[in-house]
Amino acid sequence: MDALHAKYPFFEGARDAVAGASASLPELVADDAPAVERARERVERALLEGTVEPETGEFGGSAADVDARAELLSYPIARILVSLLDSEPAIEKYAAAEASTALDRLRADLERDDGLRSTPTPTVDLDDVLAEFDLSTAVRAEPVRGSRDPSHYRIAVGPYLRLSSPSWGDSWRLVNRALADGAVRVSREELLEALGAAIEARVREGLPFELDADEGIAAELESRVAELKRLLSERTYAGPIDVVAPDLFPPCMENLIGKAERGVELSGPESFALMAFLVGIGMSPDEVVAFCADTSLDAEGIRYQTEYLADDRGTQYPPPTCETLSNYGICHNEEDHMRVAADPLSYYETRVKAADDGDIVDWREEHGRAATGSESDDGEPAVEGEEPVEEETAER
Ligand code: SF4
Repeated sequence: MDALHAKYPFFEGARDAVAGASASLPELVADDAPAVERARERVERALLEGTVEPETGEFGGSAADVDARAELLSYPIARILVSLLDSEPAIEKYAAAEASTALDRLRADLERDDGLRSTPTPTVDLDDVLAEFDLSTAVRAEPVRGSRDPSHYRIAVGPYLRLSSPSWGDSWRLVNRALADGAVRVSREELLEALGAAIEARVREGLPFELDADEGIAAELESRVAELKRLLSERTYAGPIDVVAPDLFPPCMENLIGKAERGVELSGPESFALMAFLVGIGMSPDEVVAFCADTSLDAEGIRYQTEYLADDRGTQYPPPTCETLSNYGICHNEEDHMRVAADPLSYYETRVKAADDGDIVDWREEHGRAATGSESDDGEPAVEGEEPVEEETAER
């Protein structure tokens, strides 16, 4: 079993590895193999926390990591489980979480690859991933001097349009891009974001499976599906509090905002927890962008994450629980909050209810600009530091 397939289970090679596994998926499910529990965890964490990393820690693919076979086989079973949840938003959130986790792993691989070529853990490089998505000829690196890795790439306009979205912000619009010889200039990080979209589309492909809930593997998975549905309904927030009173935010969120205001970059779990909280209290993506304007959080990242969280077609998923935030070192159970509520939203709701209405000042009333969602539209290049070195431009 190639641990790389377990790390990137949506690769074509991983599909072949699953097909060649000694036991079929129905057999694994019937035997309640470790892959089944890991699949349940995969879906639960995808929907509630935006990641599919095991609760026990990141899967790096080394021999010391969790059972690579269970990790690999959990992916197709997770796809069956999420299909059985019978919820389009759940499928979208699941695919987004798989893509987000894969991108984190890819970034780590590239860093490791940059720093130390001989690494004991199986890693991919950028060329492997481009080849996986048939992008080898569509993407070319800009030549660099002195530094081994290019900072910018040119991506053919067709794949660029297919893998990006105008909803990612003005900087992604073709009109704001350097375009030459049918190729668009992107930074290395932007190329990774586009690859994230390719991964998400690959995961999303074919979902949901058409399964008769009363038969075969679906029937065998009934209790796992029921468990997930129960958990989701318990954890589902009934509706936004819809009051933005920063003075009443719980300490964990105050700490994260303070950290970002000092210019410190938030980790993935930290920014996910903060965004989920702000969306959970009823803020729109525009409002969150305005609220975080003077912080280390960048507008495009905020918009991408909040739009993913603020799904008006389906269930609103709350931020991680106090216990999970404690595991990530985000919460220190200040003032013993865990006695009061199980998650920051519930804690905030308790504080809002306890406050006198007259004492609550809604941040949105003081910042009408944010509430209307109006943004700067001054026509400046959206990517800082990049001149539009344009030979040709086009409207998207
Ligand atoms: S106990 Fe919960 S609400 Fe309080 S600081 Fe910790 S994570 Fe936040």
